[in-house]
Amino acid sequence: MLNVGVIGLGLIGGSILKGLKNKKYRLTGTSRNPETVKKAVEQGLISGTNIEDADVIFICTPINKTIDTIKDVAGRAKPGAVITDVASIKASVMDFVNNSPEPINFIGGHPMAGTEHSGLDASFETLYEGAKWVLTPSKWQSDTKILEEIIIALGAKPVIADPYEHDRAVALISHMPLFLSRALLGYVQEHKESELAMELAAGGFRSMTRLAHSNPELATDMLSCNRTNILSSMDEFIDYLAKYRDGL
Ligand code: NAP
Repeated sequence: MLNVGVIGLGLIGGSILKGLKNKKYRLTGTSRNPETVKKAVEQGLISGTNIEDADVIFICTPINKTIDTIKDVAGRAKPGAVITDVASIKASVMDFVNNSPEPINFIGGHPMAGTEHSGLDASFETLYEGAKWVLTPSKWQSDTKILEEIIIALGAKPVIADPYEHDRAVALISHMPLFLSRALLGYVQEHKESELAMELAAGGFRSMTRLAHSNPELATDMLSCNRTNILSSMDEFIDYLAKYRDGL
């Protein structure tokens, strides 16, 4: 039975475990907080914490911990184990792996699924159903078969991509929208008509500003790791919006 290890038992890592729980895998996991690990054991999500036994290791820590965790895991994973991550930026992670002086059996990953909530309690079994899951092979490992099998078992669809193209694409459809959502909410809250506007705000405004309530740590990480692409998408969008406005 394939042993799947998950490091970082939050929304993304917890949902991987919940999605694989009743399938043909042995599941192990670790997290920063021992209470989270205890809860995962109590919920029957993991049967142990020994990541060294895993055949496939998913690194699901916050983005800014991903590279340090790769360094740590690369030194203790069992020979042949495939290491992957879920960070929503790929170029810096893949540059680190591809420039490593020692081989790292790593394939980058990014599930195109999530919510504005965080932590193990926010995770759920069906998060990945119907979602795309980006894979970025490295110079050390290009065989994505074993990962694709797990991704498909989670109900997602693997998509192989170039890490730099991925980062430009997610700036457009994921990262920039988060900041636009925050800007819209901030603009309305600071407006002189804000009191009545916020009282009247209903489903449409809530949908447009849902992303503004995302985990602030995640938003900061996105901006620091994909800043150039986010800013250039915003510049283009501001020009587009000005032309759009003129056309109204
Ligand atoms: P999250 O809910 O905050 O989960 C991350 C968890 O990792 C934390 O709850 C924390 O758990 C644990 N952790 C923190 N530092 C750690 C460390 N050094 N070692 C081990 N565990 C650590 O965040 P998330 O949304 O799952 O995001 C995790 C990754 O998924 C990020 O790289 C993000 O880019 C990616 N991602 C997120 C989304 C999304 O929509 N949220 C979508 C796609 C990809 P404890 O403190 O409880 O132990």
